[in-house]
Amino acid sequence: MSIAYIHHPDCLLHEMGTGHPERPARIHAIEEQMKVSHLMESVQVYEALLATREQLARVHGIQYIDKVLNFNDKSGFIYLDPDTMQTPETKPAALRAAGALIQAVDLVLTHQHQVAFCNIRPPGHHALPDCAMGFCFFNNVAIGTAHALEAYGLRRVAIVDFDVHHGNGTEAIFINDPRVMLCSTFQHPFYPYSGADTVNDFMINVPLPAYTTGDAFREAVTQHWLPALNRFAPELLFISAGFDAHEDDSISFLRLHEEDYAWVTQEILDIANQYAQGRIISTLEGGYELSALGRSVVAHLEVLM
Ligand SMILES: [Zn+2]
Repeated sequence: MSIAYIHHPDCLLHEMGTGHPERPARIHAIEEQMKVSHLMESVQVYEALLATREQLARVHGIQYIDKVLNFNDKSGFIYLDPDTMQTPETKPAALRAAGALIQAVDLVLTHQHQVAFCNIRPPGHHALPDCAMGFCFFNNVAIGTAHALEAYGLRRVAIVDFDVHHGNGTEAIFINDPRVMLCSTFQHPFYPYSGADTVNDFMINVPLPAYTTGDAFREAVTQHWLPALNRFAPELLFISAGFDAHEDDSISFLRLHEEDYAWVTQEILDIANQYAQGRIISTLEGGYELSALGRSVVAHLEVLM
């Protein structure tokens, strides 16, 4: 069964100003590397649908949703936080990004695909219930997770987040929901300066100091994530796939390489095969050094295939 590859041209239109690292070229860099590696030939391509207001409202407040959807600033842009700028192109991109996750859940849970990858932006894992944050508007992975729980009645869903930044938005959304386990590794102390404390048995936060190498990352995953995931036995796994912990990515100070992303993907796949009928939905979060990003996504997808 092939991988569902979900993207949309609207995700290329949203821009946050010259020099902003979260830029459309990221999507192109991934697709270029996928073509060079002949991966494009073996995925089934889908254009993301638009998420509905009701689907967003499972994890976001109505007031915040309407603020983003009804954007009509005369100046043409507005900063929702110091790093996160909304323009008229943001709304369609954000709705496609969230819609990609909804579609991925529908494709995977109706057995049309075992695995889906969403090559979308803006990313989502910093988006809080009631505000945008850190390049993120709607929390895509959380919207997909809520769809799996509410529309399909799943009882145990795991989200694995190896982005270099703590997925504080995802944690805030599911912190009191025992149906969701979140396993996260991230540089600490580092933006957004959260996640260092263990809050409960379902939020498996593993802070890593600057300059952590792939070996130490693998040890942390083996020691903290895998026992928790084995205990939880998820029916479906999401991956908040950020590749900004790569050594070449100048946004952070961790030292992961393509082989580490391949390794952690294999570990996640083993869990999925054991408990979740192999069902994995992966979505792009960070990753800003274009070459490393493209190579890392290819390493990730080659294992998922
Ligand atoms: Zn990140």
